[in-house]
Amino acid sequence: MGLPHVLALPFPAQGHVIPLMELCYCLVDHGFKVTFVNTEFNHKRVIAALSAESTVRQLALVSVPDGLGEEDDPHDLARQTEALQNTMPRCLEELIEKSNETGEPMTCMLVDEGMGWALEVGRKKGLRSAAFWPAAAQMLAAILSITELISRGVLDAHGTPIPEHEMFQLGPGMPFIDAAHLIWNLIGDERSREIVFNYFLNNIRVLDVVDFIICNSFKELEEPTFSYAPKILPIGPLPTGLRPSRAVGYFWPEDAACLSWLDEHPPGSVVYVAFGSLTILRRSQLQELALGLEATGRPFLWVVRPDLAVDSADACPDDFKDRVGNRGMMVAWAPQQKVLAHPSVGCFVSHCGWNSTMEGVRNGKLFLCWPYFADQFLNQSYICDHWKVGLSLTPDESGIVQREQLKSKVEVLLGDAEMSERASSLKEKAQSNTDQGGTSFHNLKRFIDTIKAANP
Ligand code: UDP
Repeated sequence: MGLPHVLALPFPAQGHVIPLMELCYCLVDHGFKVTFVNTEFNHKRVIAALSAESTVRQLALVSVPDGLGEEDDPHDLARQTEALQNTMPRCLEELIEKSNETGEPMTCMLVDEGMGWALEVGRKKGLRSAAFWPAAAQMLAAILSITELISRGVLDAHGTPIPEHEMFQLGPGMPFIDAAHLIWNLIGDERSREIVFNYFLNNIRVLDVVDFIICNSFKELEEPTFSYAPKILPIGPLPTGLRPSRAVGYFWPEDAACLSWLDEHPPGSVVYVAFGSLTILRRSQLQELALGLEATGRPFLWVVRPDLAVDSADACPDDFKDRVGNRGMMVAWAPQQKVLAHPSVGCFVSHCGWNSTMEGVRNGKLFLCWPYFADQFLNQSYICDHWKVGLSLTPDESGIVQREQLKSKVEVLLGDAEMSERASSLKEKAQSNTDQGGTSFHNLKRFIDTIKAANP
């Protein structure tokens, strides 16, 4: 009999591809073959960012069309969800059929919950199935509770928040969520909002058929959520990006020079600034941030993605680079997981995407939270109010985080010994969860043993 063979399908976004690819490496370590399916658009980016030695035979990178035409706006989520569902199911069926012909038949589907509809394909083809959720378990618990939120009067039947009831808590000890931050509610026009809301409804309906729902979190981080929604199993933190010469699934080529630059600085001294893969900031904000970093007087490493500035290619004030010299390093894309594992990094100015949050937590880093949209506000509330390992940065009336605030909060953060202790303690808990005998270790093993069994 051949290797158990998994078809893995991420939602087409950077913060989804990276953790799912890491999970697939875990499967490869346990004797699986994986076919990792990106959209053609993302596949090209991942391949272009790869170095030659970073692929492994048991993890095949393949692509299928996403159904979007030249005329479509790739940022239009409603159009994207429609196109994915219209185009991909047939392509996935063909991949499964082809695998039967090649003597390495697919035995299981591992699907990002954001692509939940694909589980129907797996069911039709008789494959085992599991869903992976790459954000906070709490956010999935909220989405799984849509019907309850409607009956509690938080949302109307179209998923729209009911004014004055939009802040909700699923259960005791759980953070509050603003219903306006649920992803469909961030979309401007009503029709598109309805399409995306229905997309989510459909994806959770399909979850009834899965053998597992797993997420990149760990028990102590979200304990009340795992009691509230016991079907969601934490297997994290995934050791993303730490495998030597293995592709991480980046959409941009990494600039590894920043690692040797970090080597030049004392432990805990560097301010690391990164806003993930999607955030965009106004030029005026970027300039203020640059001046704030300069004002800290500390070394800083700042990721300035080519598309970070909404209205200008050059984010920095004149002479900024000359003034800061070697004290500041700017890169277009950092090997963030390695950066956060570096002892020189003292704090992380972050947009609080879940992957960034987990990467900071598992390395015991302190956060300055600068959320931009959606679940990032929930993650900020975890970091600042529940785990107490960070402070939030608050924009003023003009919507700008001013340089003085950045400077003063960096100082407060780096001088807070209790906060540092809590961050170290979270790091230890993260580690003990994935060590043999830990809850995440146990959940991952259960998941792997189940999907190894050939048929549902
Ligand atoms: N990332 C990276 N280098 C960078 C910026 C981000 O490797 O310069 C990675 C980061 O480590 C994380 C992912 O990109 O794994 C971003 O995911 P996250 O959930 O934090 O944010 P999103 O991009 O989804 O908003």
